[in-house]
Amino acid sequence: MGKNSEIHAGGCLCGNIRYTVTGAPVVVAHCHCKDCQRASGAGHTTGAMFATAQFEITGNLAEYSLKSNAGNQVTKVFCPICGSPIYGRNDGMEKFVTVSLGTLDDSSRFEPEVAIFAYNKKAWDIMSDTLPTFLAQPAWSPENTR
Ligand SMILES: [Zn+2]
Ligand SMILES: [Zn+2]
Repeated sequence: MGKNSEIHAGGCLCGNIRYTVTGAPVVVAHCHCKDCQRASGAGHTTGAMFATAQFEITGNLAEYSLKSNAGNQVTKVFCPICGSPIYGRNDGMEKFVTVSLGTLDDSSRFEPEVAIFAYNKKAWDIMSDTLPTFLAQPAWSPENTR
């Protein structure tokens, strides 16, 4: 992975929330699921998964929890003032958080590795043909990558 101690800072639109992630993400994924489309207002979210131990956050946080189709409790954490979606937790993967990649101060050097829930991708959400793409969630867990 390399660059394991590199610190990236991020935050919400209004500045209430600031956070840092340290080191490389476990995975960077585009997600086309309906929940991500509603939460983002866009065709997909782009999430960078980090171990919880790599993540520190300050500010007033608001949360919204829902059940995923897989039956897990998913909690979306956002700014109660400006509404920026900052990160998500999933009780099926408690040691990890998925940070909204666009909320980093400088996300320019990250690259997507996979697109998921492409069964719900809309034609107007034009994606790369070369990106590994799965109709739903591939059989995958952070513990068995790399
Ligand atoms: Zn804010
Ligand atoms: Zn999703």
